[in-house]
This record gives sequence, C-alpha cells and structure tokens, in this order.
Amino acid sequence: MIDPSEALQIVLEKTPGPEPVEVPLLEGVGAVLVEPIASDVDLPPFDKSAMDGYAVRSEDLAHLPVELAVIEVLPAGTAPTRAVEAGTCAKIMTGAPVPAGADRVVKVEDTEALSEGRVRILRFDAGRNICVRGEDIRKGATVLEAGHVLRPPEIGLLASVGRERVRVGRRPTVAVLATGDELVPVSAVPGPGQIRDANSWSLLACCRGAGVPAHSLGVGRDNEADLRAKIAEGLRHDVLLVSGGVSVGEWDLVPEALRELGATIHFATVRMKPGKPTLFATHARGLVFGLPGNPVSTIVGFHLFVRSALKKMMGHPDPVPPAVTATLAGETKVRGNRTAFVPAILRREEDVWVVEVIETRGSADLVGFSRAEALIALEPGVHEAGSGVQALPLQW
Ligand code: AMP
Ligand code: MG
Repeated sequence: MIDPSEALQIVLEKTPGPEPVEVPLLEGVGAVLVEPIASDVDLPPFDKSAMDGYAVRSEDLAHLPVELAVIEVLPAGTAPTRAVEAGTCAKIMTGAPVPAGADRVVKVEDTEALSEGRVRILRFDAGRNICVRGEDIRKGATVLEAGHVLRPPEIGLLASVGRERVRVGRRPTVAVLATGDELVPVSAVPGPGQIRDANSWSLLACCRGAGVPAHSLGVGRDNEADLRAKIAEGLRHDVLLVSGGVSVGEWDLVPEALRELGATIHFATVRMKPGKPTLFATHARGLVFGLPGNPVSTIVGFHLFVRSALKKMMGHPDPVPPAVTATLAGETKVRGNRTAFVPAILRREEDVWVVEVIETRGSADLVGFSRAEALIALEPGVHEAGSGVQALPLQW
C-alpha cells in the first residue's frame, strides 16, 4: 500500500507529455499550445476611432464652442480620402481609421450637428479617443507562449492574428469500462440484486469536464473471457478507465486480466479512504486506471489521479490542481490508518477559506457527494475545529 502522494508521483512519472497536433482553431478550445504564437499584424492595424463622433485637430478647439466644416463621413471599414485641415473635421464611427491631420475624436454627445455639412463642437474629453496603431500588439511580437491554455479569449486573439489552425497537445482518447454482474443500463428497471451503472456515466462526464473525449465500452461481466475481451478493446485507447473489479473479492478479475494482456501494474492499493483498491498500470500504448466500484470512490480516484494524467498528456504546465489552505469548520475524526478525502463545502469568510464537512453515508452515497465542492485531505486522528487543512477544489 502506498501513500496517495506517492501514487500521484508514479502516475505523473509514467504519463507521457503532449504529442503535438495541428487542429482547426475552434477545436483548440480547452487544449494547450505547444508553440508560441506571433502576430502577423499590428493591432490595431491603423489609428482607430474609439467613439462615434468627429475627427478634429486639437488646435481648432482653443475656443469653444467652435463650428467646423465636415469634409467626409467615415463609417468603420472605409479608408479616409482627405486630410483634416484647419477649420474642418470628418464625421467618424467607432472602428474607422482616423484621417491624416486629425489628432482627436470628439464624441457625438459633445457636438451639435448643424445644417449644410457643419458641426458645432461644444466640449471634449481629456482623452483623445484614438486607439493608436500597434498599441495592443506589434507585428512579429509573441502574443501567446507555448503552454498557454486556450480559452475563448485566446481563440479570439488567434483569429485576430490570422491563425486558422493551431498546434496543441493532442487530447488523449479515453475508454471507459464498468464491470460487475449486478449492473444494468440506465434505461432498465433494476431487478433483484441489480443496480444501474452509474460509473460509466460519471467517468464519461469527468472526462468531458477535463476536455477529453471518452468512449464507453459498456459493462464488462465478472468472468475472465468477457473482461479480457473488453479490456483488450480498451487498451487500444491512450487511457483505459475501469471501474469495479479491482479489490480482493473472488470476482475481482481486472488485475489478472491486465497482466495477461501484457500490462505492468505499478500499484494496486493506495493508503486512502475512499479508494484503497485503486490500480494504475501501463502498457505499450498507454495507461490504465482501475478505480473502485463504489460511485464516490470512482470519482475521487478520477480527481486525484486520472485528471492530472490527462492534463499532463494534453500539455498543461501544471497538471495537478493546487490545493487551497482552509480552516476546518467543525471537529473531524478520521479512523483507521488511511488518508481520508472527505467531501466538503468550501466557502469564503472574510479573507479565509472555510471548509465544512458534508455528512455522507460513505463511498456509495452519490446523494451526499452531489453537494461537495471540495475534498479535504485529512490524516488519521482528530482534527479540531479551526485547524488549517488542505482542500482540493472539485473542478469539473
Ligand atoms: P467493486 O469495486 O466491483 O467491488 O464494487 C464495489 C461496489 O460498487 C459494489 O457495491 C458495486 O455494486 C458498486 N458498483 C460497481 N460498479 C458500479 C457502477 N458502474 N455503478 C454503480 N455502482 C457500482
Ligand atoms: Mg464488482
């Protein structure tokens, strides 16, 4: 039996780093850049009006109000044809290029339109209301570094600098296999001794939350032939997640099937509660996680180990989400000799995080666990109210 921290270290050591792939821009969302991105243009590409109003020469505004002749109208997308000279101005819209000669835009609210192509300037802002060419980005400058996680703003930025395709860490493919003779599909009404398969769904959902596509292999039955066939199919993916069948029961056949298929098991029990029978193996093509069948244990195992492995494979610079130091709301006892990962509610009080343990009925209780916002890592013993603890926010 190894400590959870050691187990995570083994998982990260054995997990390969990102394999670069080129994807269409939108498929990059949630992925991690494996190359720096330089801009192919100045942004903005020209001196641009920040307001609807009039492009003027500041010199002409020495005495207000003042009347100016409007020499042309510049909607966004047009190019000025004339320079603004003394006593003149151009009507301009937000986003349009500021004409030569003008050094300021007076917003329309500070003017009064007169007839016959004239305008009266009543007052003006302290700012010039002009976005200067290249003030956001200079052509050739790096706008995003390798290792940057692409979110919607980055996708917009990549579009602005002309990237239709982008090189990112390939998302691993994941197969999910639930095991157990007692399991029936969601659509079925469970008969005597049967339960619905929850773990396929929660694991598929966990993968989706981590930005990784996952594929269900259905339910493996507790017999060697069926498990072997389904596990063999799962080994064609980068990552295989198996739920159930990894403890020491007579029908817990997953470790044996894995060995027979040529996988190397690195650990099979972890000093943690829930989740003692958590298994990690590697084979020529990828990784295998055996997660305990109890629905809460499965999800906890995903959060502690699988998520970080998937993030590392995608190229995340920090695959392990940081723990938060928090204050324990009430006294909590941990019996036995394993590190407990206790579901909790996490809240901000003044300037500290406070964690409050959720009373659940254990590792099968998805109802209780549904309220959890974090897992508190607690060593065996008595933890007094007010003590400092490490909380792992549950990021889906
Ligand atoms: P196991 O790890 O196979 O010994 O299963 C431990 C407990 O989790 C048993 O009560 C199983 O019935 C339950 N369990 C196993 N797999 C699932 C599943 N896919 N969905 C819901 N419960 C499960
Ligand atoms: Mg089972």
